[in-house]
Amino acid sequence: AADLDIPTPTSIEVLIRVRPLLTHESDASTRAASSIISTLEDNQTVAINHPAKQLQCKYDYSFPPSCAQSDIYSRVSQCATALANGFNATIFAYGQTGSGKTHTMFGPDGYDVRRTSYGGPNHAVLNESAGVIPRSIVQIFKELNRKDLGIVSTTVYVSFVQVYNEQLYDMLRDPRRSSSLEIHEEPGVGIYVSGLSEYAVRNAGDCLALVKLGEENRAIRETHMNTASSRSHSLFQIVVEQTRIEDGAEGERVLKSKFNLVDLAGSEKWDTKKDRKFETEQIEELTNINLSLYTLGRCIAALSKNGKALEKDPDAILGHVPYRESKLTRLLQDSLGGNSKTVLIATLSPASDCLDETISTLRFADRAHSV
Ligand code: ADP
Ligand code: MG
Repeated sequence: AADLDIPTPTSIEVLIRVRPLLTHESDASTRAASSIISTLEDNQTVAINHPAKQLQCKYDYSFPPSCAQSDIYSRVSQCATALANGFNATIFAYGQTGSGKTHTMFGPDGYDVRRTSYGGPNHAVLNESAGVIPRSIVQIFKELNRKDLGIVSTTVYVSFVQVYNEQLYDMLRDPRRSSSLEIHEEPGVGIYVSGLSEYAVRNAGDCLALVKLGEENRAIRETHMNTASSRSHSLFQIVVEQTRIEDGAEGERVLKSKFNLVDLAGSEKWDTKKDRKFETEQIEELTNINLSLYTLGRCIAALSKNGKALEKDPDAILGHVPYRESKLTRLLQDSLGGNSKTVLIATLSPASDCLDETISTLRFADRAHSV
C-alpha cells in the first residue's frame, strides 16, 4: 500500500487570513479608511498597528490580503488527502461577519457545473476564485481514483446542515417545505441526524451540484424565513467509505472517514442589554450563537490539550471535551477527536473600525493554537 500520511492525535493548525480592504472601505470619507493589520515576513506573525493598540501574535501561518484562494488551499489540502486515506478532518472558518469566511470556504462563482447529457453525470470546472470546499471536492475524487492505493470500492456521501438558533436544518431540501431536525446517538452507529438528506455522489461534478443546491437553499432561507447566514453555522460534510486490499495483508480492509467543512456564524459580540432594539426572541438567538461558538472554543482547546498530552505519553489520561453543550459540537463529536486533522482559519478585516472584533478573533485563534 502507499505511504499513509497519518495525522498526529488531534493536531490543530491555526491559520490567519487578512482580507483586502473593500472598495467602499478604502473610500477616504469612511471611518474604516485605513488598514491596521500587516503580516510579517516569517509568514506567521500578525501585527496590529492602531493608535489605541499595538500587538503581535504568532500562528502556524498568516496570509496577507494579497494571497490567492489557491494559496490558502495549498495549506489545507492535506485534509482531503487524510480523508482519502481513512482519517477524519475538519476545517473551520471563524471570524466576524464580513471578514471573509464564506469567501474562503465557498468562493464567489468558484465553479461551474453542467450536465454532460440528460440524466448523465455533472461536469464541474473550478475557477480561480474557488474556495476550500470546491477545491477539496475535486481533490478527494482525484485521490480516490488513484490506482496505487489498493482501493476496491468507494462510496462518497454528502450532507449539508445549517445550525440556526440551536436548531438543525437540511440545506439539501427546499427550506419552504422542511422543518428542524433532531440529533441522535446510537451505539455502533454513532451520531446521526434523523431525516437528513444524504446523497451518494459519483464524482466531483455531482458533489458540486449539491454544494450549489445548498447555497441556493441558504439564500432561500434568508429571503423567506428571515434568517441571516451571519447567525448560523453551515456544515458541509463528506463521508467516504472504502474497501481496500493491501499488499501483504490478508483480506479486505474497510475504512470510513468524515470531512467537516464549517462556515461558522459571525463571531461578533452583541451587547443585547444595551441594545434595546432586540426583541426577546432575537436575544435568545444571539445567545445561542455565542453558546455554540463558546462551546466550540472550549472543545478545540480541550482537544488540543489532549493531543499534546498524547504526543508525550500515549497512555495519558485525557481531559473532558464538552461536546454535548451545543448542537454544532455535538454534530462534530465523533469526528473531531482521535487521529484527526483539524484546521481553524481565522479571517480578519484589515479595517480600523474592526479593531475590537479583530483582537477578539486573534484571541480565540490564540487559545486554539497555544494550549
Ligand atoms: P463572511 O462570510 O465572513 O461574513 P464574506 O465571505 O461574505 O464574509 O466576505 C465579505 C465581503 O468581503 C464579500 O463581499 C467578499 O466578496 C469580500 N471578500 C472577503 N474576502 C475576500 C478576499 N480574500 N478577497 C476579496 N474579497 C473578499
Ligand atoms: Mg458568510
